[in-house]
Amino acid sequence: MKTMGLIGGMSWESTQVYYRLINQRVRDELGGLHSARIVLFSVDFAEIEVLQQQGAWSTAAEILGSAARAVESAGAEFLLLCTNTMHKVASEVEHEVSIPLLHIADATANALKRDGITCVGLVGTRFTMEQEFYLGRLQDHGIRVVVPDEPQREHVHSVIFTELCRGVVKSDSKAAYLDVVASLAERGAQGVILGCTEIGLLIQGSDTEVRLYDTTDIHAEQAVQHALGRT
Ligand code: GLU
Repeated sequence: MKTMGLIGGMSWESTQVYYRLINQRVRDELGGLHSARIVLFSVDFAEIEVLQQQGAWSTAAEILGSAARAVESAGAEFLLLCTNTMHKVASEVEHEVSIPLLHIADATANALKRDGITCVGLVGTRFTMEQEFYLGRLQDHGIRVVVPDEPQREHVHSVIFTELCRGVVKSDSKAAYLDVVASLAERGAQGVILGCTEIGLLIQGSDTEVRLYDTTDIHAEQAVQHALGRT
């Protein structure tokens, strides 16, 4: 089994979900007392969030690049950035190391293509819902992306930073997210990407008829398949 390098803490609320899902899957695949070989570098998210607000992406890339070098030298054989948003600097991080990075949007696009989805809704941070690094990456896979309207984007973004990344899960926010999901489906989305690694804490597949693609779950699954030499 390969050793995976996780760069987490963005936020730690979702990193602990990655840690659990990855280990559960390795146990399910290999049985017995098997668990995943993981090197985790967990950053201080307050520092990263300030840099996001300032648009200081190159400074954020330096922090994540140095985390990537640290996990590589600790023995990681491939890398995961445990956040959608910070894939904004994925290529800068990749350049810092010689091990491969498993890109969250590629993993998600592959899951969509397996299910024959050609038009998908996307919820996540403003950066993820509005910027080319993520939308363009999905479109490069031939997938059409529908995003919430401006007031919905504002609300979805703010719930992530003021609630979910702080471990706060509220029923009114859940209802609001489910309304957003329903409106994306009405606009033609055949499924909706939970394109922020904390959103699975708020809504799950059992809450809606609309097919949800949880990026944390998909990314964790891809990491396990890669670690076991199946991809
Ligand atoms: N974890 C979130 C994501 O997947 C948001 C936190 C961040 O800005 O990195 O985008």
